[in-house]
Amino acid sequence: MVDRYYVTFFVVLTCILRAFDASPGDADPVYASCVKQCKQTGCVKKVCLPQCNSSANSNPLDGQLYKPEPVYLRWKQWDCQSECRYHCMLNREKLRAEYELPPVKYHGKWPFTRVYGIQEPASVVLSVLNLAMHFQGWLSFVILLYYKLPLRPLKSPYYDYAALWHIYGLFALNSWFWSAIFHSRDMDLTERLDYSSAIALLGYSLILAILRSFNVRVEAARVMVAAPLLAFVTTHILYLNNYEMNYGWNMKVCVFMGVAQLLIWSVWAGITHHPSRWKLWFVVVGGGLAMLLEIYDFPPYKGFLDAHALWHATTIPLTYIWWSFIKDDAEFRTSKLLDKVK
Ligand SMILES: [Zn+2]
Repeated sequence: MVDRYYVTFFVVLTCILRAFDASPGDADPVYASCVKQCKQTGCVKKVCLPQCNSSANSNPLDGQLYKPEPVYLRWKQWDCQSECRYHCMLNREKLRAEYELPPVKYHGKWPFTRVYGIQEPASVVLSVLNLAMHFQGWLSFVILLYYKLPLRPLKSPYYDYAALWHIYGLFALNSWFWSAIFHSRDMDLTERLDYSSAIALLGYSLILAILRSFNVRVEAARVMVAAPLLAFVTTHILYLNNYEMNYGWNMKVCVFMGVAQLLIWSVWAGITHHPSRWKLWFVVVGGGLAMLLEIYDFPPYKGFLDAHALWHATTIPLTYIWWSFIKDDAEFRTSKLLDKVK
């Protein structure tokens, strides 16, 4: 449940945040002319950028009209553009601060100060911590299942959702890995990977929410529930990556999948007699409060800690409680199944 919540929030938020590519910062004529000039001269005020050296600035097609532009040159030009944007943004923000004007977004993002080339160091660190927390949760789940709880004669666990949670762990680890990469370097490729991983996790969490809350244990029934959702999520990811990165449509899909699992878990937590249902509630309420951070979306404090990073911070304890619920569920169902056997 927690995971659905925070995954939901995560995806919904990313979707919402990235839906606005044009921002007040890049519409500012001073910034725009700075970037334009930088791309021509390779310098912003006294800082000259190695990414914008002469080979990158000269027209690569000069005298060789039919030769395709080498990839490394395209990369260099692209790199020059992002460097120019970054340094022009810093200058513009410095000037704005002198006039006591609040920070504004540039190309959909707040002005962050890089650390060792990492764009959003706080979000990267927190994504890594989320990743570590999921790994710890999953590992302790494995230890509980295979070393602490009784096993069936063929050494398989009694808990009938074990395999589903293992897959969930993989999706979660994958998603936080790409989140860390994306916050390190915002590029088309890293954005696609981050989006796709988050959508996959969100879609899978929805399937898991349905299977667990409706207590679907028969393999054929599980396949019947999962197949249409898997097909839909796969199609959606392929559509975004190969046809059109439609932020508006993606937001609707994310909101639908998120709200659906949120409702499922809430209703289930309300009616079940599960001994650890309070953990579900905690995650739901905690996730809901954390979501306010994303809606409030304040600029980075001192260029580092923004609302999105803080939101990633709140998912760390929620992840801990979430895996704790999963482990409780494994114990609870195992003892129930053993009672039946006796
Ligand atoms: Zn993020």
